[in-house]
Amino acid sequence: MVEERNRGNSDKYVVGIDAGSVSLNGVVINQAKELIYESPYKRHLGKVEEEVLKLIRELYEELGGENIKAVAFTGNHGQKISQQMGGFYEFETISQVLGALLIQPNVRTIISMGGQDTALFQIKHDDDGWELDYFNANGPCASGTGSFIDQQAQRLATSIYDKKVDISQDQIDKILADFIKLGLESQVPANVACRCTVFTKSDMIHLQNKGERLEDIIYGLHVGNARNYMSTIVSNRVLEEPILFVGGLSMNELQLRAFRKYFPGLMVPEHNMSIGALGVALQALELGIENRLNPDGSIVTTKEDSLGLPLASKLELKQTDFPEDNEVRKRSIKKKIPVYLGIDIGSTTTKHAIINEDYEIIHKRYVQTQGKPVEVTQKLLKAIRDEMGDKIDIIGTATTGSGRNVVGDFLNADLIIDEITAHARGAVEIDATIDTIFEIGGQDSKYIYIANTYPLDFDMNKVCAAGTGSFLHELANKYGINIVDEFQEIALSSVRPIKLAERCTVFMESDLVSYHQKGISKNDLIAGLCYAIVHNYLNRVVGKRKVGQRVMFLGGPSLNKGVVAAFENVLGGGLVVPKHREVLGAFGAAISVQEKMTHEKRKKSVFRGLDSAINDRMTYKEKICRADPKCHNQCKLKIYDFDGRKSIWGGECGRYELIGRKGPKKKNYFQLREKMWLAHMSGVYDELRGEPVMEVDGRPTIGMQRALYALQTGVLWAHFFDRLGFRLVFTPPTNSHISSSGIEAMTAETCYPIKVSHGHVKELIGKTRYLYLPSIVNMRTPEDSERGFYCPLVQANQYMVRSALDLDRDSILSPIIHLKYDTPSLAIELGEQLSGRLGKSRSEIRKALEYALERQDGFNREMYEKGQEIIDAHSPESPLVVVTGRPYNLHDERLNLRLGQNLAKIGVSALPMDFIDVTAVDLSDFPSMYWGLGAHIVRTAKFIEGHPNYFGLHITNFSCGADSFIEHFYKYIMGDKPYLILELDEHSAVAGMMTRLEAYKNVIENTMQKLNRELYTGLRAAS
Ligand code: SF4
Ligand code: SF4
Repeated sequence: MVEERNRGNSDKYVVGIDAGSVSLNGVVINQAKELIYESPYKRHLGKVEEEVLKLIRELYEELGGENIKAVAFTGNHGQKISQQMGGFYEFETISQVLGALLIQPNVRTIISMGGQDTALFQIKHDDDGWELDYFNANGPCASGTGSFIDQQAQRLATSIYDKKVDISQDQIDKILADFIKLGLESQVPANVACRCTVFTKSDMIHLQNKGERLEDIIYGLHVGNARNYMSTIVSNRVLEEPILFVGGLSMNELQLRAFRKYFPGLMVPEHNMSIGALGVALQALELGIENRLNPDGSIVTTKEDSLGLPLASKLELKQTDFPEDNEVRKRSIKKKIPVYLGIDIGSTTTKHAIINEDYEIIHKRYVQTQGKPVEVTQKLLKAIRDEMGDKIDIIGTATTGSGRNVVGDFLNADLIIDEITAHARGAVEIDATIDTIFEIGGQDSKYIYIANTYPLDFDMNKVCAAGTGSFLHELANKYGINIVDEFQEIALSSVRPIKLAERCTVFMESDLVSYHQKGISKNDLIAGLCYAIVHNYLNRVVGKRKVGQRVMFLGGPSLNKGVVAAFENVLGGGLVVPKHREVLGAFGAAISVQEKMTHEKRKKSVFRGLDSAINDRMTYKEKICRADPKCHNQCKLKIYDFDGRKSIWGGECGRYELIGRKGPKKKNYFQLREKMWLAHMSGVYDELRGEPVMEVDGRPTIGMQRALYALQTGVLWAHFFDRLGFRLVFTPPTNSHISSSGIEAMTAETCYPIKVSHGHVKELIGKTRYLYLPSIVNMRTPEDSERGFYCPLVQANQYMVRSALDLDRDSILSPIIHLKYDTPSLAIELGEQLSGRLGKSRSEIRKALEYALERQDGFNREMYEKGQEIIDAHSPESPLVVVTGRPYNLHDERLNLRLGQNLAKIGVSALPMDFIDVTAVDLSDFPSMYWGLGAHIVRTAKFIEGHPNYFGLHITNFSCGADSFIEHFYKYIMGDKPYLILELDEHSAVAGMMTRLEAYKNVIENTMQKLNRELYTGLRAAS
């Protein structure tokens, strides 16, 4: 340990120990403040007390107990340990500064990134010494921590349910080193948002699924970390040099590279991992602390009872039949048998199931997807050929899961099926009496309601409930627990499970850390975690949807008895936990292709065959799409070469799609609305094409964002300004550049439409004579008693963008407008605010307004007429989806991920709500309706509910305050009728949306069949 020559000239030593959330760092200094020993980096894997005792014991033995004057603690666990052992304790903030000053006396800035905490220290120096000038640290949501990076490295490297998974420190360090090494190969970081761990992980998985290179994602994660640190912790402060980078992440070369883009002179000092330990040792030395600890005793843990924490009941598996044997039954196959192959390519794992003609699984396997759907499928196929090749004849192939399309195309599959439908089919095959399916996957969770063996309703997690399966795994790793058997044994042995926060995985984790620091046993925490996962799922995914009598539980966590027992306790009854549940989607896909081929009387598969799929050269290259000069999306295309056949993926507009869809395409009414909108503004507006445009045909220009209120009231403003002799110039439709520049400009966290609005306004800066940024307070309402307010964020939009973008006030027209006023009052309001600025008389403004309101009404009327025509022509026996949402979601293809086109493509007739005149719908059961658009949505929901063949689809945004109320009303109105709510934001991916849309289509078809059957039976009974 301590080398003789390092012992220095003093015989009295002080030990400093930094007991952090992930690691333990210890130093020994002598009386001359010289560091004589630094312990190697040690992950404590949750066994912090044991590791601390071990370190102290070793130091006492090595240096002689009598020579150690004091032991001092700092770090996350430091206070608790010092209370238990009697050592000195100092806050981490002070320790870190003291340690840094010892190493670098003139330090001005310290960037500290540890396992759980991230901080910034700014230090002032003057003749009297130094002073801490500024301090800031991360909140619970920040993802820029070492622990999160460790988790991501392990997620990408390990197989989640592998019994042999190695969770030793050496293995974790090796995985992390490989992860960083791979990231260092990247030159172009992917855009990974790092606002919160859940989103960061979702973003990374989406990027993986889109085929982004792993090295770019890894580098992107570190760049995102640095960016997040800059925006949330540094903000607009200037950081003075010398700047030291300390803490666990300072060992990470990639993180250093990302930070050096901001601070080229950033230094990683000597003993960068032990700065806190050094600081606390120094503090103890200077204060003359003396203590003698007993390293041979054990640390007394505080009694749980005394803490008075909320507890849950003991986990016991009483009513569920839990299959211990999950293996495929061995059978002897003498001659080749015909089989069907189902492959489920999920975001985390890829699995296959092979079934014989009697629907029995004869082979199954799963592997980590690791962002390489085609490559891992080849790996599975190879396993199939090696183990079964001479025994089977594949006569039908189906793919499902998020990678179903690309793999389906590669294999030339006979069927490509969404995972909701596939899981439901597999589940009812195992038990035809089930009516509810709970599935908690690695990243996505699902709920499916089944009636008469067909799915009649479903939902999937919103972004914030994501990651529950892989979250369990990551936490198990963090605590050094094997997820497979050990985890459940620990959970079931707990007598008093602790109730943890269930709101979101980030809060669960921080609860876990803080209870661990308080001394709660690992068993009680792990049991509490099982409950938290269950409550999180029930509250966030199932919500108010129906839970039937027979619930089947699927997905990785269903292999864990602790989680199953938690479900049993919470639901008050047993669950159906079937064999082979980890491959049930693949099983359902295999059955579905068999049924499809039987139904179509097809005997021959179009599958390319095992040998060809395994042996054929499969290469790909990446390219930015420049197919359309007018499109600024710059989609990153992945161009596969499947042995000479090209297959292109990643284009957002669908221009490269080759996969044939079931049934004919339907008309895209979203596109029709866009055409009508533009036609009503024809000749009175221009589109910004990048260059400034101060005048058009001698008319001064007025820039307006094609976002928020503009997508509803654009016709009004284009005609209003035209009448006054100006020309309205709209920004182009939202593209990736506008979206990301808006996100970068944000100074506060908001919904996506507001971020996008920032991007549009930024695009207009200095490009037009005026910039029109009204505050539109309210809108016209069908009933006078309704208030018709816009959301506060829409109303306050001008103030937000003005401050975020530092806009030149002289060019801004920013009237406050009450569209609910009658026309004369509105004319006065506008006249007062615009007349002077525009040099127009109030009477001119009044006339222009009257004309423009008439044009806007004309547009609305024409929409209603067209809508009525569509409805009249629509057969009552076929379904019609009515899409509700705010205009800036409904009519912005970037925000709605081309919803109209995607619905039409899969054969769904979908009508945006502004085609339907619902002004006559009675809203008296929702009195005091505050929101104008909310009232419109609620009226439309009532209209949908009143028509058996109409189905609701509502689009909303993550963190939309107004919709948090409206959604409840919407669900209440729909009652038992199926509906789909899509919560979208900048993290949403088309693949996830398509799964929901395809599954919804299937649910609608099942409901229509049921409806038509009932109608038919009713008619027969009547006659
Ligand atoms: S949206 Fe379409 S045209 Fe535009 S870049 Fe993407 S694939 Fe190319
Ligand atoms: S209504 Fe919702 S989506 Fe619209 S601006 Fe307000 S918070 Fe954002």
